[in-house]
Amino acid sequence: MGRLVIISNRLPVTITEKKGKLSIRPSAGGLATGLNSLKNNYEVIWVGWPGLPVSKAASKKTINSLLQEMAMHPVFIDSSKFNNYYGGFSNSTLWPLFHYFQQYTDFVSRTWQDYKEVNGLFAEKVAKIARKDDIFWVQDYQLMLVPQLLRSKYPRATIGYFHHIPFPSYELMRTLPWRDALMRGVLGADLVGFHTFDYVRHFTSATSRILNYDDHYLGRVRFQNRVVDIDSFPMGIDYDKFAKATHDPEVAKELERYIKETRGEKIILNIDRLDYSKALPQRLRAFDLFLTKYPNYRKKVSMLVILVPSRDTVGRYRRLKEEIDRIVGYINSKYGRISWTPVHYYYRSVKFSRLVAWYKLAPVALITPYRDGMNLVSKEYLACKTDGKGVLILSEMAGSSKELIGALQVNPNNTEAIADALHQALQMPEEEQIKRVRKMQKVLQRNNINYWARHFLERLQEVHQASLTIYEQFFNPKVEKQLLAKYRQAPRRLIFLDYDGTLTNFRSDPALAAPGKHLYQTLSELSQQPENQVILISGRDKETLEHWFGPLPLDIVAEHGAWYKKNGHKWRQYAKLDNSWKEELRPIFNQFTDRTPGSFLEEKNYSLAWHYRKTDPGLAEMRKHEFMDKLSHAIYGKSLQIMEGNKVLEVKNVEINKGTAAKRWLANETWPFILAIGDDYTDEDTFKAMPKQAYTIKVGFNETAARYNISTVEDVLSLLDKLL
Ligand code: UDP
Repeated sequence: MGRLVIISNRLPVTITEKKGKLSIRPSAGGLATGLNSLKNNYEVIWVGWPGLPVSKAASKKTINSLLQEMAMHPVFIDSSKFNNYYGGFSNSTLWPLFHYFQQYTDFVSRTWQDYKEVNGLFAEKVAKIARKDDIFWVQDYQLMLVPQLLRSKYPRATIGYFHHIPFPSYELMRTLPWRDALMRGVLGADLVGFHTFDYVRHFTSATSRILNYDDHYLGRVRFQNRVVDIDSFPMGIDYDKFAKATHDPEVAKELERYIKETRGEKIILNIDRLDYSKALPQRLRAFDLFLTKYPNYRKKVSMLVILVPSRDTVGRYRRLKEEIDRIVGYINSKYGRISWTPVHYYYRSVKFSRLVAWYKLAPVALITPYRDGMNLVSKEYLACKTDGKGVLILSEMAGSSKELIGALQVNPNNTEAIADALHQALQMPEEEQIKRVRKMQKVLQRNNINYWARHFLERLQEVHQASLTIYEQFFNPKVEKQLLAKYRQAPRRLIFLDYDGTLTNFRSDPALAAPGKHLYQTLSELSQQPENQVILISGRDKETLEHWFGPLPLDIVAEHGAWYKKNGHKWRQYAKLDNSWKEELRPIFNQFTDRTPGSFLEEKNYSLAWHYRKTDPGLAEMRKHEFMDKLSHAIYGKSLQIMEGNKVLEVKNVEINKGTAAKRWLANETWPFILAIGDDYTDEDTFKAMPKQAYTIKVGFNETAARYNISTVEDVLSLLDKLL
């Protein structure tokens, strides 16, 4: 049985101290239930904060050993650091920003420092207990850096990350000073999970805009030498637990009592943690409007507000609580009678049996957060409606709204719509209620918490497998050793090197990518070795290449093969080519360049190239498709081709490609050692032209005809240094 290590901010336990004696009992949150359900297939181990500050060494020791019996490993964090990490960065920076409360978001570098440090403590704790073949599953926004911290320790490990709150649009994410580190942190995982596809969309968009990894396809990002999958896994609830609990004698007793006490009044149920994202004041205002607009319902309905205490030592939460107190007072004083209280309001948590009794009793649940990652209360309410009767009014901004399509969905900012939805709910015929509820229950029953956990882990292992496959094609130390040995033995060696993206990194302006001193020296020495025939094979114009490399004793291919120059000879043309097409196509190139800020046109002897490296990625993607469409019509019937390079579209004569150019060197001699390195689409022709035994290497991790992939330009340079 494999080991599954769950890493979460909080361990699923409550530790209490009475008269100096510590006792620990498991706490049954939804997540803990789901993950514990995996115990049949995995040995489940938890790493997390134990839930209280522990300063005495003796207590730490006791807690440690008590928890270890439960396969849990505590991360002890000193109070001030914890406050900065949890109350500070997690809950005063990430929480508000990710829930679209930019005005509440603090940017404080001290709390960021402690967030980083505490994430480090979690990773260290994991390192103490980790074994080979463990699966790591990191939970939520408090630990966004942990996946990458683990990845750097265990490059081949299986690592998952699940984000339980919303992931905001790139426009908000970009405001964070530490956005790069957070994105990179999460991308240490093999699989990144969110509740909804919207969050997936936002995350992939942030990945390409913040980190420039636009190399993704249907949520799969190729990232360095790995694959990272980004997908949605809507979290479910322990459905049976809620459905079955409705038959508990204790619940029945509570229910009977409430039926008596509410005297036939219809209850509109609200259950929320105290948080500004839940929009409770707005909802109360909607109830006020409802009572004004539909006065017949006065004395017939009442609102039950259960507000679960949370973070109320923080000023912002305290003020929110005061605001809610005030509005409740206002409504009760405005409409209340001795015999009728419009809003029953409790600031406390409720025990499970009471919660279930309320779910079962209330004909309407009103759940209208401004933003909510998922919202489990909406699902639990439905699970308790065993007779199918009840109406859920749900915010379209809650993650659960994607699945709960039978709910009356409202915009939480629209008080009028909420008031009308209340009216509609109270009038809804039972048949319709049952039809809607049953449909949603089916989904919830299937996609329960156990399914969620199992499904995520299955996908995690699949993606990890895909990464391993890539690793096999990866230019690893074993292959390198072999290559170097072959190189040393060979009396004659043929070496093809692409330039941009292979020997030098891309620059925003291609003219800035001139070779540095070290690279120049390397190429010089490499081409001077008498056994070597080095060919620089590039898409650049011959003038630039001549200017940069003219004096070196190597051969050069320019414009993807339109021109070539053997060492010590003049530049020669591949063939006399017709260039008249340029006149016709140039206006199209100009039109797209004008319409696309950041792009520019490069004219070479035998081609036209449109570069868009500096263009906004979304716009570039859109224009590129339109441009290709236009070009494919324009070149129809001509012997031209469109080539897609790295952030460049180029039109040139079909006969010209690097493959035909490279064959010139293969024709008259059998080479005992051949090496070809390139990075983009145009280099694929070179790879395909090479004999089987050649070492063909692609920089980057896209699909390729090359035998191996290598990560970066720096890795290529280091390989060339080793050849010398
Ligand atoms: N809940 C609770 N104590 C209570 C009332 C409710 O623990 O007194 C539970 C409720 O059953 C639900 C969870 O708190 O499972 C709230 O989850 P939700 O996703 O709705 O909101 P969150 O608090 O996570 O933002």
